[in-house]
Formats: sequence, C-alpha cells, structure tokens
Amino acid sequence: MNTGTLTINGTVLTPGLRTTIDLPAGKLYTHTPLSIPVHVVSGKKHGPRLFVSAAIHGDEINGVEIIRRLLKLPALKRLQGTLIAVPIVNVHGLLNQSRYLPDRRDLNRSFPGSNRGSLSARMASLFMREIVAKSTHGIDIHTGALHRNNLPQIRANMDDPETEKLANAFDVPVIISSNLRDGSLREAAAEYGIPMLLYEAGEALRFDEVSIRAGVKGIVNVMRMLEMLPPSRRKSARRNEPVVARSSSWVRATNSGILRTMIPLGGRVKKDTLLGVITDPFGEHELQITAGFGGIVIGRTNLPLVNEGDALFHIARFEHVQQAEVRVDEFHERHQPDMESSPDPDTEGPII
Ligand SMILES: [Zn+2]
Repeated sequence: MNTGTLTINGTVLTPGLRTTIDLPAGKLYTHTPLSIPVHVVSGKKHGPRLFVSAAIHGDEINGVEIIRRLLKLPALKRLQGTLIAVPIVNVHGLLNQSRYLPDRRDLNRSFPGSNRGSLSARMASLFMREIVAKSTHGIDIHTGALHRNNLPQIRANMDDPETEKLANAFDVPVIISSNLRDGSLREAAAEYGIPMLLYEAGEALRFDEVSIRAGVKGIVNVMRMLEMLPPSRRKSARRNEPVVARSSSWVRATNSGILRTMIPLGGRVKKDTLLGVITDPFGEHELQITAGFGGIVIGRTNLPLVNEGDALFHIARFEHVQQAEVRVDEFHERHQPDMESSPDPDTEGPII
C-alpha cells in the first residue's frame, strides 16, 4: 500500500495541504502548453489515497460536475488520507468536445500506455505514473456515448473482494460485474493491485442531476466505508443492497429508419416486450423492436434516427429482476431533486 510521503509532479503533499497541481501534458501545436489539472486534498491524518477521475472520454462531462461538488463538501475538512481529484483527464478531448484524442484513439483503450507510444499512450502513461501508481483506490466516472443515456450503474470486478466492498458501498441500484481485458484504466489499475470502480451515468455532453447527485453521494459513501470521512450522522440512512447483473447485451436496429421508443431508461422488460418501433418517413412500413430476454433497460439511445445495426437498448439480465426493478424505483425517488420547493438563495439549486 502507498503510505510514504506523497509527491505529485514534484509537489510534496504534506498533511493538511490542499492544492492544485498542473501535470504537464505536452503542448498544443499552437505552442500553447497543455496540462491535466489535479486537485489534491491531503488530510491531516494518514489513510487511503483515493483518486477520482472524469472525462477520460472528453465528452463525458457529468463527472466534471460530480468532482466540483465533491470538492465543495465541508466534510473534507475532516478527511483522513488523500483525495486526488482529476476532473478532466482527456484535456484534448474536452477542448474538442470529443470522446477521443486528436490521434483518433480512445484513451480508455490505451492503458497502461507508454512514454514512447502514440499521443494516447503517452497520456495514459502519465496518468498511470503520477496518479494511479500513487493511489490505493480509484473511482473513474463515465457517461453513455453521444446520444446514449445510461442508468446510473457501477461496473466493477466483483470477483475481487476489496472491489466488491467498494461497489456495494457506492449505493447504485445496478452493478455490472465485469473483468475486461480491453486496455482500460480499470484493467491497468487492477494490474497495479488497486481496486477501482467505474461509475457510469447519464449521457455525453449533458448534465443529469440525478446522475450527478447519486455520483457525489456514492463517492462519499465509498470514502466513509474506507474511513476517509466520518460516518453519516443520520442513523436511519436507508441502505439498499444493490443488485448484480449476470450479463447484459444491446438490442440493435434490424432496419434503418425513424425510431419511436416505448420503454424508459430503468424500465423492466419481459421477453417479447415491445421496446420501440422503426418506421420509414411515410409510416408505410413499421418494424417492431422487441426484447429477446427479460431484464432492466440500463442504457438507451436518445436519437430517433437509426441505421441498421445501431445499438438501441442495453438490457441487463438479473437473477431476481423484480428486486432490481424495486431498487431502480427507490433510487430515483431518493435522488430526484425536489421541484416543489422554491430555490434557496443560500444553496446551489439543482440543474434542471
Ligand atoms: Zn466513457
């Protein structure tokens, strides 16, 4: 475990220090220097070192707002250990409002990277060296791709007991257990023996209040479980065991056309449930899209214009699908902003 003095890019993080470090990440071709901003909150007492990263895919911005809210929490004054917040990992991608790097590679397929490789490989290598290698735990925040919305979910390797504890502490209705070998940050962190969660929620280039609230709460829950933050004073805090999906798959468009969706995100479907209808612009030919198996819709396209083969509905299979459905409903009730009360000038209102 990483317990010695923490140094990031030459800055020594003494206990009690809170600071922003700019990790030099080369230059733009305009000669402008580029850096990855890192905000470090170093607790007065030793403890775990948790990195929280967002926008590894440069258009996935919910996590940027999650980290902003996380860093405002007064409870951080009582932090034990170190919080390493990296709200914008893929700075190139965010500048271009794009998932990718300018070399058209996917940063989350470029880990662990190399100093002498492609631009993506170099960015990945820098992140591994300065952030991951210095942490004991990690949370990486993502959203669905462009025009695709994800139900808040944790993806984690549930075969690893420490990772399983983090995933259960986060408190989302659905956990997808996966252990991929795909060049992702999650795989590279696992190679370093660092348990890591991936929080997926919402859509690219959009803010989603429920996803953001659940993300902030989830990270706080994990930090409490790791004893980085004091336990909740609210004794009656309701905890619901998440439901782990056995597997998931996408239902694709069998034809090109204009899609009308019939099932919301988080909806429960049975085998042969009607998910949507694809038509031509005249409505002369209608094609029904149905579920091939029962489960919960954990991802969905928001774009009605579809080509044959496009991924439309992401459905997760569960051992006890009814239990998953109840969890999803409870979750939405808990995190939905209160629209009835007028905005309080002393606190930030929800994004609506
Ligand atoms: Zn992503």
